[in-house]
Amino acid sequence: MYSGCKAFVLTDRQKLYRVNKPEMWTSTLARFARPALQRSTAAVTCQVLKACCRSGPAAGRLPPSLTSVQLRGQQSLVSASHPASRQLVRHARALDQERLVEVEWEDGGHSSYPFTWLRDNCQCPLCTLQSAQARVLLMCDLDIHAGVDTVEVTKDNKVSIVWPDQHTSVFDPEWLKKRCFSSAARQSLQEELFLNERYYWDSTLCIPTADFQQVLQDDNAALAWLLAMRRFGVVCLKGAPAEQGQVARLCERIGFLRLTFYGHTWQVQDKYMANNLAYTSKKLSVHTDYPALNFPPGVQFIQCLCPAVEGGESQLVDGFHVTQQLQREDPEAFQILTSLLVNFQDVGRDYCDFHLLSKHCIIDVDRDGRVHRINFNNATRDSVLDLPLHQVQPFYRAIKAFTDLMDRPENVVSCRLESGDIMTFDNWRLLHGRKSYISSPDSSRHLEGAYLDWDVVMSRLHVLRNSVHKDS
Ligand SMILES: [Zn+2]
Repeated sequence: MYSGCKAFVLTDRQKLYRVNKPEMWTSTLARFARPALQRSTAAVTCQVLKACCRSGPAAGRLPPSLTSVQLRGQQSLVSASHPASRQLVRHARALDQERLVEVEWEDGGHSSYPFTWLRDNCQCPLCTLQSAQARVLLMCDLDIHAGVDTVEVTKDNKVSIVWPDQHTSVFDPEWLKKRCFSSAARQSLQEELFLNERYYWDSTLCIPTADFQQVLQDDNAALAWLLAMRRFGVVCLKGAPAEQGQVARLCERIGFLRLTFYGHTWQVQDKYMANNLAYTSKKLSVHTDYPALNFPPGVQFIQCLCPAVEGGESQLVDGFHVTQQLQREDPEAFQILTSLLVNFQDVGRDYCDFHLLSKHCIIDVDRDGRVHRINFNNATRDSVLDLPLHQVQPFYRAIKAFTDLMDRPENVVSCRLESGDIMTFDNWRLLHGRKSYISSPDSSRHLEGAYLDWDVVMSRLHVLRNSVHKDS
């Protein structure tokens, strides 16, 4: 469960980060970007970083309202995902042999679209319910071998196809261009939709900050906040009232929170007969929350309501950065942690009584070989170990290699949360922990936390992006 991102001292660099001048942000980004900042794959970050480093002109392209957002660097992320300019079709023809419609663009390039895909995605009211953007056409009514009768460019520059049964499909050029099947176009669209590029960081990270009230009231600020959380994995919101209910308010801004056995929101305090190690004053080694769930929460909000008088500093580690190091320095350990399943358990009573069991690889990798999620909490790792005897010692060696890397000072950001601060972070990527603290009856350390799913957060991000683009 939660560790308590506790203390958060603003360094000079962090103060710089919040100065309202693009060039100041640029210098700050450049400082933590090199050499610590790395990329999961090769191409897009370079563009974004370059955009960030072009101080004046990059900022000049942005909608004026964005200049008040404190997350300076995210402006280029916002502008980078603006819809493409108007596309014009020069010519369209059917290649019957290849069963493709080839569209030649006014700007010189061309795109090819399979007959079957075009018929399947006809946008007419018989085939698509526009109000839901949902396909009406049934698979049983789709002839995947159908040819086309005619293809032409209409007077209003749309691509019109008449099928052998005389059904007509008319396609908007922007709609087609966005769905171009070339490798580069698909890669670019997938990135725009899923935002899988990440900026890796180490102990030199200046944690991005945003203003709580602005995020609640201004769509530009909210969008910049969510984009930064996606890219960096963490953003600290400043200026919230230090009282219970604020993390729930923030969840409502996005959609809804994720209910768990610890309640809608949960109170991190030193509790008698604690049902979780987080509810003591002990040190918590860095971990992700809730691997005992088979689908752990993607995003976590945690607000400091009352800091500890002594101790309790938060520690953050970029799990994706560390797994990349592990893969490079100890490929055998990486292989073990990405293939062996580990049991987790969580037993107790809170919202109701519970007895959770799950199995995870400690490092989840997607089919492209990218690290997708870290599942690691040493406190809830089960004593039940479903491994043959000869794999037990190699498994421990691999975990040890992983935790040794996470504990390296150059990988750990330590911070002290101030009263009111809300740390918002990616629980699938970041590992977080806290130092032990002195508990005193007259001033009790108190944090309030809540979880959300990435689906809900990404949904809000897409809605905000559309509305911000519309306004600009
Ligand atoms: Zn149709």
